[in-house]
Amino acid sequence: MILEKKYKCQTCFENNFVDVELYFCSETVDIIEDCRVCCNPNSISYTVENEKIVYFEVIKTY
Ligand SMILES: [Zn+2]
Repeated sequence: MILEKKYKCQTCFENNFVDVELYFCSETVDIIEDCRVCCNPNSISYTVENEKIVYFEVIKTY
């Protein structure tokens, strides 16, 4: 199951979406996504457990 998770770009603060795959087992994922508005990269880190996002963080990437 894929969830479209909304996040704010840490450079321009516009809303973006990232596809999050929901797992049954605990899974931590680190990805870098380019903002669709300003094209700056954001580091996204999230943890999925029992098909729910239990942790989600966006960090500005330099
Ligand atoms: Zn942006």
